[in-house]
Amino acid sequence: MSLVTANNLKQTIKTEAESLGFSHIGFCSIDPIQDFPIYLQWIEDGYAGDLHYLTREDAIHKRNNPKLIMDSAKSIISLAMPYPPHLKKTSETGNSSIASYAWEKDYHLRIPSKLEILINRIHDLIPDKPLEYRIYTDTGPLLERSIANQTGLGWIGKNSCLLIPNVGSYFFLAEILINIEFLPDKPFNLDLCGTCTRCIKSCPTNCILPNRTLDATRCISYLTIENRSGIDSELRESVGEWLFGCDICQQVCPWNIRFAETSSDFHFKLSPEIENLDPRTILGMEHDQFKKTFHENPLYRAKLRGLKRNAIVALGNAKRTEDLRILEETLTNETDKMLIELLEWAICRLKAASLPDINA
Ligand code: SF4
Ligand code: SF4
Repeated sequence: MSLVTANNLKQTIKTEAESLGFSHIGFCSIDPIQDFPIYLQWIEDGYAGDLHYLTREDAIHKRNNPKLIMDSAKSIISLAMPYPPHLKKTSETGNSSIASYAWEKDYHLRIPSKLEILINRIHDLIPDKPLEYRIYTDTGPLLERSIANQTGLGWIGKNSCLLIPNVGSYFFLAEILINIEFLPDKPFNLDLCGTCTRCIKSCPTNCILPNRTLDATRCISYLTIENRSGIDSELRESVGEWLFGCDICQQVCPWNIRFAETSSDFHFKLSPEIENLDPRTILGMEHDQFKKTFHENPLYRAKLRGLKRNAIVALGNAKRTEDLRILEETLTNETDKMLIELLEWAICRLKAASLPDINA
């Protein structure tokens, strides 16, 4: 297929992708990724913690050169699918916070089928071209935000999120590597953060680094999702009542608060098990119930042990004396050393909170 014909195809693909719920679509070549040195330095500085999928040597090389993923690839299509922010806590009584992206069915289970539909439509448009492709949504060795920046979708903000004008940062990213040569879109070269530092000032664990990356080992998202250990006593209080993930650096961003155009056209279905989730119910949960409740939700990623850890920290930080009894009952039956230590910490905090404040 000639380059000209491929370029005519671009607009049709964008229209098709929009009909599937992707608000922004961009194209770039398969050339090595510009931000790779920043990522490499980040790994070398130890900021990735236990995120081994980011530090594996073969995956590092692929992130630099996506051709190592698919030799026949000629272009990358980057796509953004917005989701609604959830500023409220899960329930009045539960009083815990869950990152907005997790209020619906796991995007890993929803977005690939949409990408396959898009591929089928591309195939229908050029039936004579044998298509080779790979699809990803946070699942492959790709520097997704850098690619999105190169395809012109937006810029990487100081909070390390990709930001799209008039959308903000609440969206999923996806990519298609494909053996079609498209004329690349222009990279998004503006930095629209300006002098703003709201995200940096608001981050409870001070984990936002000056070069638009994070110290993942201190980020609440890492601590409550990927982390398989306890939460250091130094960081526990800063985690607040986040039961899964953290949205604070997005909640304070003017591009989400003031400039995002409100839309009701989200391809989004609220998960009832999240809407009414109470951290106290997690304390007594068994594996079968956990699997049944969350197997299609992002919370499944934290595993039951991780979710119990987060629930104990959230209840310890909520300091509601009425939760003392359930924490003490849980401690009586708990055998996991990590959870026992956290339960003792939380109980201590609730007991201290019930004493009179001599400074009041
Ligand atoms: S997600 Fe939370 S902890 Fe992580 S950088 Fe943003 S504000 Fe800080
Ligand atoms: S809060 Fe301000 S500095 Fe941070 S990402 Fe948003 S615009 Fe940029």
